[in-house]
Parts: sequence; structure tokens; C-alpha cells
Amino acid sequence: MEKSATRNESPAPAPTDVIAYDPNGIERKWQRIWQERGTNSTDIENAARPFYALMMFPYPSAEGLHVGNLFAFTGNDIYGRFQRLMGHNVFEPLGYDAFGIHSENYALKVGKHPMELIPRNIANFRRQLERAGLMVDWRHTLSTTDPEYYKWTQWIFLQLMNQGLAYRKQAAVNWCPNCKTVLANEQVVGGVCERCKTPVEQRSLEQWFFRISDYAPRLLANLDHIDWSETTKTAQRNWIGKSEGAEIGFPATDAAQGGACEIRVFTTRPDTIFGATYLVLAPEHPLVDSLTQATHRKDVNAYRERTKKQDLVTRKTSTEKTGVFTGSYAVNPATNAPIPIWVADYVLMEYGTGAIMGVPGHDSRDFEFASEFKLPIVRVVCGEREDKNTPLTEAYTDCDLGTMVNSGPLDGLGVDDAKRRIVEILSAKGAAKAVVNYRLHDWCISRQRYWGPPIPIIYCDSCGVVQVPEKDLPVVLPFVEDFKPDDSGVSPLARHEEWYRVPCPECGKTARRETDVSDTFLDSAWYFLRYPSVAHNNVPFDRELTRKWLPVTSYIGGNEHAVLHLLYSRFITMVLQEAGHLDFEEPYTKFRAHGHIIREGAKMSKTQGNIVNPDEYIEEWGADAFRTYLLFLGPYEQGGDFRDASIPGTRRFLDRLFASVQTMSDAGEPDPDVMRKLHQTIKKVGDDIPRLSYNTAVAAMMEYMNVLRKGERTPHRDEVVPMISLVSPFAPHLAEELWEQTGGTAKAPSVFDAGWPEFDAAFAAEDSIELVVQVNGRVRSKIRVARNIDQTAAVEAAMSDATVARFASGAPKKIIFVPGRLLNIVV
Ligand SMILES: [Zn+2]
Ligand SMILES: [Zn+2]
Repeated sequence: MEKSATRNESPAPAPTDVIAYDPNGIERKWQRIWQERGTNSTDIENAARPFYALMMFPYPSAEGLHVGNLFAFTGNDIYGRFQRLMGHNVFEPLGYDAFGIHSENYALKVGKHPMELIPRNIANFRRQLERAGLMVDWRHTLSTTDPEYYKWTQWIFLQLMNQGLAYRKQAAVNWCPNCKTVLANEQVVGGVCERCKTPVEQRSLEQWFFRISDYAPRLLANLDHIDWSETTKTAQRNWIGKSEGAEIGFPATDAAQGGACEIRVFTTRPDTIFGATYLVLAPEHPLVDSLTQATHRKDVNAYRERTKKQDLVTRKTSTEKTGVFTGSYAVNPATNAPIPIWVADYVLMEYGTGAIMGVPGHDSRDFEFASEFKLPIVRVVCGEREDKNTPLTEAYTDCDLGTMVNSGPLDGLGVDDAKRRIVEILSAKGAAKAVVNYRLHDWCISRQRYWGPPIPIIYCDSCGVVQVPEKDLPVVLPFVEDFKPDDSGVSPLARHEEWYRVPCPECGKTARRETDVSDTFLDSAWYFLRYPSVAHNNVPFDRELTRKWLPVTSYIGGNEHAVLHLLYSRFITMVLQEAGHLDFEEPYTKFRAHGHIIREGAKMSKTQGNIVNPDEYIEEWGADAFRTYLLFLGPYEQGGDFRDASIPGTRRFLDRLFASVQTMSDAGEPDPDVMRKLHQTIKKVGDDIPRLSYNTAVAAMMEYMNVLRKGERTPHRDEVVPMISLVSPFAPHLAEELWEQTGGTAKAPSVFDAGWPEFDAAFAAEDSIELVVQVNGRVRSKIRVARNIDQTAAVEAAMSDATVARFASGAPKKIIFVPGRLLNIVV
């Protein structure tokens, strides 16, 4: 339907054309030639000026390439091709992120095996990507599902383990009872599974973690000196979540034994301790049992049971405040007053110490909680025009304007001073210490699923946790028919005895394999290291090639990966550097986030039925027109609105360029006005592309095309030929064809090896200038005149300006004229 509707708008060739622009023919021809000549193959070993233009690799879905992928990749391709025109040896690899729950769930849904589906999907992606004309070096492709690849993913796991950075612990996790898997916090949206919308529960499982939280200070500090999109850096800073504060001990008494114990809380507002009127423990806090009085035990236990059924995200975001009193009291070390100890789910064991001091006067959540349970609310900070008796109708949280009140030795201090002072006072008594806290948790890499690289660990009754020796890698994921997860919480691999039982590498007795596979984010945390070295199967990455090509020169991807993939890959790089495998600690020298495209004002989605299938559009308009349109529809870093009606305009632009080459003439001289516009365009496009301002670059070229063909004039060869290079990053096939037609191949076989057109500032200079006009020495106007205007003509032009005429009535006494700059009329 859609196809025939748009076909009618196909531009008919202009009657003057010698031959018509046939994108399909041209594109297939050049794709074949590129393949035969290895035009897109980078000389990895010998490159003199390596430029690694990386794009985020796609998950090869069964639906095929999404137009959003193509928007992202084409943006990277234009940048890469431009860098090649600037004389770099550009390496533009592309592979597939093919493990993970998306593929597995899809396979389950359609009743096929992922080992069957993935190669098919990859072949389809490859076909689509090649058709789009990307400058990808396909000799260096990879798939994370290839045992030759995940052998090294497993090797990386072992490197972390050897560095003491991998450990097992029992942990509360989000559990989707439908997908039967653990979910990361970001896969839980509004308390339900992001994928299947089933309410998420909490479970406790033994899992593998990486100590990324140890790297929080370094991950944060390096953000100050890497050249990344600010939006991405901000997202990482917030995710790492550094907060400076204090850990404070509140003495309490064990309810059962009567012994002394201490509840430690972390707070970023130690200054408000005089307003701490209660403590709250997370339901999982280890002291809850011993602190609960017998009279309150039933209520506390019931509350803890209820909490277990909740997921972590709901607990963090829920506005409803629930809780239960333990019957016990602790001592506020600042006031020495007893304060009640509560248990509530708004406190998480994972953050800080799993306990907080409740300061309802100055924390909004505490205010709600205290209001709900009728706990005392005390003001200890007041703002302007407030004093210690001003009632609180809500929490007062402003730190900048606050002054301490009702706080003994802190009274009268500003908030920052009070923070420092109270930590000094309490530290002297051994009751507090200054600490820095991070929101970043350790990375749980265990997945109780099938479709991933098995974690290379063996459990032996005699030897304990044993690593699979490097020589036995990869631990190959076996082909099993029955890979559906069940309710056991154990990976389906555990049901396959012949794989599960294995001799212990140390003692030889029968032992058991780890049945969890690793998180897909581990696959993608190091893939960029592999591309240059795909031919080297004895190492994860060749030392020399890595030194030559890495860190990645330029990385382009979506901001939806700002915190997980981009943070994990930084972490893994740091770890590998510390282990002596890499010479750098930051993987991507430059990162730019691209925007996203919508269609006709609406978000594209399968359910809306408004997905753009790139195949149809490329068939209809040609890959070059489609690429150019995609990058013309909005600023690359912001995205834009895909409108079917706008594509013909872009295609017409390429048609006109093609026609210009067919009709151009060598006779006579080029038109100076056209040449001026040409050089202005060379400058603008050359400035815009490295800034990723593709839409403005295309607009400038279109504008030039209008000047070039004004009144359907016959263009001069010199006015046309440089345009072939300017358009080449956008429309590479057309550019190669025109390069060949105009004899460029005598200079360089490919337009991409011919360099960027020379910009001549003299050509580009505007012939008109702005002349400052003064009357009696005071500036009255600025007028645009020809650069070489003489005095008489300048005076005449100035007098035709209304303002000048008003001030300079009557015959001038004297004229001061500085050609090209200034005219002063003295009257
Ligand atoms: Zn689910
Ligand atoms: Zn053993």
C-alpha cells in the first residue's frame, strides 16, 4: 500500500538529462566494486594514521534492521568517511550483540532455537547493512555468540576473579515470575517487568558480582577529562551518585540479651542530627531480630514478609509510607535523648548502611513518615525570616540559605559549617566519621538463563569453587532443545546432566558446572577490543594492534546506554589495564550521543504499526537518498521527525547533482558568484560534519545546488566537480559514480581516497562589506556596499539611508573615507 502511494511521487528525470540517475543500478555496481577492490578494508597492520570510528553494535532482531539503527550507523559512517577524506586510515567495524534475554524470549515465543535463529537474523542484518552502503570492514565483524568470541568473555571473567573483583553472594533480586529470571533495576518499570508487564517479586539467590563499586571514585573522576557528550557524562555522574556525609553510631540495647549494640547510619546531613527523632532500619537489616521486643515481634515479622513480595524499584519510588515499630529505643549521640527504632521499606539495605536517622523537619520522605506515624518533628534549620519557633508544614530542605537552630553548639552556623563542626564533635567522642558514599552498586552478572556464555566455574565438593583452566576455554554453551527457564530459579543448563557433571580440574572427582550464564552487558563491555584482532584466535586482543588502534578514536551511540554499557566497558577497561593487559584506562577518547527519530510526530513502535522498514525506502528512493534524508531530518544529536513526504526533496537534490554532471561544460570561465557560494559551501560542510551537524551540511549543499542551477543555467565543470566530494560522505555510491564519470579515477580509484576539496578563502570572500557611517564622528548607521566602492558612490549610498540623511542634512563640510571600513560625514 504504502509503496505504491509513494512510487507515484518518484521524480521523473528532467528532459535535458542525458541519462537519468538510477540509484539502484549505481549502488549495486559500487557495492560490488568496493567488495572486489577491498575499498572498505582498512590496512589494520600498517595504517599510518589510524582512526577508529566505532558505532554501538546492534542486537540482530528477527524483525531486521530498525531505521533507528540505520540513523545511528549512517551518522557514524558519514563521520568515518569524512575522516578518511581528511587522510586518516579509518576503521569502521560492525558486529552483533546477539546473546541475551531478547533473543531467548523471542525464540521461545516462536518456538525456534536461538542457535538457529541468530545466524539467520545476522545474515539478514548483514544484507541490509551492506545495502545501506556503510564503509564497514566486514573482514572484522564478530558476534558475541560465537565461541571464538565468548571464549574471551569467559577469560575476562577469570581476570576479574584473579584480581579479586568477582565474588558470590546471596542477594535480594528482582524476580519476574513470568520470564522466570532476575531483572536489573532498570528492567523494572513501575513495579512490573519491562518486557512482559508481570508484577515483579523479590527473591534471594546466590549470584556472581563484580566489584564495580570499588571503582566509583575513578569512574567519576575521569569524567572530568574525557571528551564525551555532556548529557552522557551527567547521566553517569548521577548514576555513580557520589554523596559526602558521615557515618554516625547510635547506641542501643539488644532486646533479647540486653547487651549493648550500635546502629550505624549514613547521612549526607549530619548537621541535622539534633532533629533526628527516630531511626529506621531496612527490613533486611541484620539487627532487626535482636532489637525487636517480644511484644512487637509478630508485627515486625509480618511486615518483613510483606516487604519480600515487593520489588526494589517500587520500594525506592513508592510514595506510600509504611513501617512498624520494634519497641526498642536508641540514643541520639548529639542530644543523648532516647529515640524509637522503626523498620520501614523505604530504607534499602543496598544503600549506605541499611539504616537511617529520621529527620522529619528536613527530609521530605522522613516528614511523610513522621506525619503518618505521629513521630515528633523538630526544626533545626531555618531559612530567611524564620526562627526556631516557626512551625514546619513541610520539610525544609534548603541548604544554602539555612541557619542552624535548636542544635546546641551548632546554633547560628550555616549548614556547611554545621556539617563540618558536628562531625568534629562526634568524631572526638568516637561516635562518627566523615565518609563518602556512592549510589553505584556492584554489578550482578549472573543470569539464570540459557542464552549466554556459561560462567567458567566448576564446583567441587573437595576443592570448592574452581576456575575452568584457560586451556579449557571456551566452556561451550551446549545445544539443548529444552532451554525454557522454570520456576526453580536455576538455569535450564542444570537440567542437562551430561553437561552439568564434569571432572574437577584440580582433583578429577566428579564436580558440577556453574549453570548461570553471564549478563549480555559483559559481552558488550569489551567488544571494541576484539574488532582489530578478530584474526588472532590465540589472544583476546593482539598487543601491537591494540596499541595502534585503541583507545577508540570516536564512539557514537544512543544515550539509553549512558549508564550500563558505557559504564561497564569503562570499568572492564580499567580492570584490564590494572592487570597489565591494556595501556589505557578509558576505552573511548570521544563519545557522542545521537538523538532518536520519530515518525510523523509519533514514537515508532510495532503496536502502532508505524515502523519504517529501511528495505522498502531504499528500494524506492535509493540508499544514498535515504541516508541523506535520515541525516537531514533533524540535528543528529537531537533526532527528528521522519516524514515520508520529505524524502522526494532529498532525492531531487541528488537528481540535480547527477544531472549537473551530465550537462556541465568546460567552456569559458566559472561564474565568480557561483564559485564564491561553492567555497562558502566547502567551508561550511567541512566545518559541520566534524561537529555532527549533518542536517545543516545537507541544507548548505542544497542551497548551493539552487545557486548552481539557477534558471537551469549550464554549470561550469569547476563549479560542479568539488560537489562530488562534498556529498560523498552522505551519498557514497553516487559520489563514486560521478567521480568515475568526471575522470577522477585517474587521480584516485575511490573518491574517498582523493581528499577533501581545497577551500579558498579568497574565493569565498563576500564582495560586499559593511561600511560604518558616521555623522560628525558619531556612528549613525552601517550600510552594505560593494567592497571596492569609491568615495562618491559611498556618500551617495550613505545619504540614501534615512537615519544618515536626517543627521547629515545640508552640504557636507568635510568627508573622511577609509575604503572598505568607514565613512565620516562632517556637516
Ligand atoms: Zn517478565
Ligand atoms: Zn576437586
